[in-house]
Amino acid sequence: MRDADVKTWVSNRIKTGQIDKYLDGDRDFIDDNQVFGILEENSDPEPSRVRDIIRKSLEIKTLSAAETAALINVTDRGLLEEMKEAAAEVKRRVYDNRIVTFAPLYTGNYCVNNCLYCGFKSGNSGLVDRRALSMEEIRRESEILAGKIGHKRLIVVYGEHPLTDTGYIAESIRNIYGVKVKTRNGFGQIRRVNVNAAPMSIEDLKMLHDVGIGTYQVFQETYHHGAYRKMHPSDTLKGNYKWRLYSMHRALEAGVDDVGLGVLFGLFDWRFEIIGLVLHAIELETKFGIGPHTVSFPRIEPAMNSPVSDNPQFKVSDDDFRKIITVIRLAIPYTGMIITARESAQMRRATLGMGVTQTDASTRIGIGAYSEAYDRQQEARQQFILGDTRSLDEVIREFSEMGYITSFCTAGYRCGRTGECIMELLRSGQEGRFCKLNAILTFREWLDDFASEETLRAGEKVIEKEIREVKEKLPAFYSQLVSYYERIKKGERDLYF
Ligand code: SAM
Ligand code: SF4
Repeated sequence: MRDADVKTWVSNRIKTGQIDKYLDGDRDFIDDNQVFGILEENSDPEPSRVRDIIRKSLEIKTLSAAETAALINVTDRGLLEEMKEAAAEVKRRVYDNRIVTFAPLYTGNYCVNNCLYCGFKSGNSGLVDRRALSMEEIRRESEILAGKIGHKRLIVVYGEHPLTDTGYIAESIRNIYGVKVKTRNGFGQIRRVNVNAAPMSIEDLKMLHDVGIGTYQVFQETYHHGAYRKMHPSDTLKGNYKWRLYSMHRALEAGVDDVGLGVLFGLFDWRFEIIGLVLHAIELETKFGIGPHTVSFPRIEPAMNSPVSDNPQFKVSDDDFRKIITVIRLAIPYTGMIITARESAQMRRATLGMGVTQTDASTRIGIGAYSEAYDRQQEARQQFILGDTRSLDEVIREFSEMGYITSFCTAGYRCGRTGECIMELLRSGQEGRFCKLNAILTFREWLDDFASEETLRAGEKVIEKEIREVKEKLPAFYSQLVSYYERIKKGERDLYF
């Protein structure tokens, strides 16, 4: 593609009219000084206040920025322990012992931006063999993910470039949903396509809504204006902080009512970033009645030719990382929380009980890496280095041994339990009823189609316990569950409540 064409494309991307209407004069909803002020004013919270805040969170109510700051500033070991226990309890109330798995699918590494921490940045001259997957290649990757590994959810990741623009994204979503592969006992399909891509206009987002996009994720990276400027050169698209900050407003306007927020931890003080996330959630709840469906909290990993990523100025320690997870769980209690294979197996294990609800497995982030032999040459095309490369089978076995049920349920989204409606159901614990039943059914499908002998044994123990619980706690649904369950064992697929 000619440089001039790329430039023209870039210059038409940002529609300032779609940001201006939300601004207060020139100001967005993150006031850096105010955030520092909130952290300062709540620097030494009374234990009784901390306990009141914890109680509010246990009622599944979003905390204010000041309440979140108070939790951030707790240092007393006993109180921190109470916070951790409450975070685990919040997770149980909203999500019970369910965990959701997914796989990332990297579609290409072309990018017009130059984020200092990312291996895909346009200035990375070491990345010589840039490419984007063809639709045929995307189908092949999806067939392996759905037919051999057993994933039903993907997070599809896109650089920002005219070669992988919204038309390409929409077509790839359509192709992924079109995949249907024979498995051991039934067939495999990708039932939910989540997307991590650059901010878009309302018109573009409507296109993605029309092809059935799942969650639309855009990480703000850092909420601090100064740090954002340093990391994202001003002559790039991503250099526009406000275009990114209001991307979820535009998504919700376009009818994409599942949105995912995130921070790339290491770019600025983590305390500031958590307040930014909470202010963002409150802003969306206030304006649209819908908060983030998920929150992601990646820590920067080393990336090729990106010194910032090798030695981040605000590197987050393991202890602080665990505190970050606890505070986010308490501050936005209804939200799904995603930990990825950037983290080690040990860290992922530890954070499950602290509030995490979703994780990836069998992860490959090279372009085309699921279908091709994974060699050193391809590793160079990766965005960063992974911390946990275990297979989905191994990860599920471990979850089962820990008493978690892996849910492949995507029913809630397909029968309209989304957006404002899901917010209410999650808060009241009612969504959990459907989720529990659908988790059993989808886990049965997976065990029959993909599990190794060992994982099958561990998984069946969990299923038996879950079925007993349905009989005791949800007797009205028991006979229907058993009927669906038996049909699934005979090879029927995709039966849900
Ligand atoms: N290009 C789109 C964008 O930037 O919004 C979406 C794809 S980008 C590859 C997805 C996310 O990867 C970014 O939002 C960023 O948080 C994360 N990321 C980039 N470099 C990273 C690194 N070195 N370590 C960990 N995560 C990184
Ligand atoms: Fe491009 Fe996203 Fe990487 Fe930035 S983080 S260089 S926008 S792929």
